[in-house]
Amino acid sequence: MTEALATGAVIGILGGGQLGRMLSVAASRLGFRTHIFEPGANPPAGHVADRVTTAGYDDEDALRAFADSVDVVTYEFENIPTAALDVIEAVRPIRPNREALRVSQDRLVEKDFLTGLGLTVAPYANVENTSDLDAAMRTIGAPSILKTRRFGYDGKGQARIMAPEDAAQALADMAGAPAVLEGFVSFSHEVSVIAARGTTGEVACYDPGENVHKDGILSTTTLPANLSAAQRMDAVLLAGRILNALDYVGVMGVELFVTPQGLVVNEIAPRVHNSGHWTQDGCTIDQFEQHIRAVAGWPLGDGSRHSDVVMENLIGADMDRVGEIAREPNAALHLYGKAEVKAGRKMGHVNRVIAPKS
Ligand code: AMP
Repeated sequence: MTEALATGAVIGILGGGQLGRMLSVAASRLGFRTHIFEPGANPPAGHVADRVTTAGYDDEDALRAFADSVDVVTYEFENIPTAALDVIEAVRPIRPNREALRVSQDRLVEKDFLTGLGLTVAPYANVENTSDLDAAMRTIGAPSILKTRRFGYDGKGQARIMAPEDAAQALADMAGAPAVLEGFVSFSHEVSVIAARGTTGEVACYDPGENVHKDGILSTTTLPANLSAAQRMDAVLLAGRILNALDYVGVMGVELFVTPQGLVVNEIAPRVHNSGHWTQDGCTIDQFEQHIRAVAGWPLGDGSRHSDVVMENLIGADMDRVGEIAREPNAALHLYGKAEVKAGRKMGHVNRVIAPKS
């Protein structure tokens, strides 16, 4: 067992966006300090962290100095270059571990991993060129979605193939990047499980939330989700299997499609997740504190939910409604302090506490 970090220890966080910011707040509540590593200027997490290093992921000296200054390193996004991780790992532990990053950085590796665990994913095939695509279209067909294997987020790096004649354009949209063709899953709705695993192997899952996306970006998460007791149990059990198989330490988001044939895993994210923001106002221990507890070697909170909550993302011009939302009863605002409002940019979220848990 890893020794638990004591108050005053420093948690290094790769990435200075809103997730890093909310992780920093949770860490400071437990008496830890945080050090953010972020290439961009004025990151949201920098406003609340103890220290910020502004440097690129190719700056080995800065990475080494960062790692030297902290007790453990975690991250708020999964697309960290492997070479940067090598530098850090020579100095300090990275939690969640490298295997979790390796699997989740590449959609093909991720789907092979999930299938290997006996879990259901959309039909898929590797596509690197026209002949791969022709073969994949023969087995998977349309409708389907071509997705870049790496660096996709919020629906970016994806092209829908509604009919076979769309295939060539979809491949052109990938701009030469390796991709996977995914059969279109006919789901009734989307849910996600936020799950945590500690250094001793204990697992705690939050209740699954129901997610609605607009333009490929998460719009709302509603608790409770529309799931039967059996589906709820399936969701939590499959998340636990994923965490165990990766010997995972930290919080993970597992996105699922609900179909009449059962739950289909869309993707996993080895970090705190936008669809877990509701936990800030629906649980005693939220996903951010849970993640910090896990990476610090502390006991996990139990993750139980005390309230029904609807989380709404505030994206771009939604910021114009902040004054109005601030007057609503039972609406907890969480704003990220981003200097510039841009279309499609996540600026904050609001958790509306609807009622005690139903
Ligand atoms: P992703 O970036 O892979 O999470 O995809 C973003 C959103 O696109 C998902 O939340 C779904 O709403 C939709 N989507 C992605 N893949 C599929 C699929 N294979 N079948 C149906 N819808 C999908």
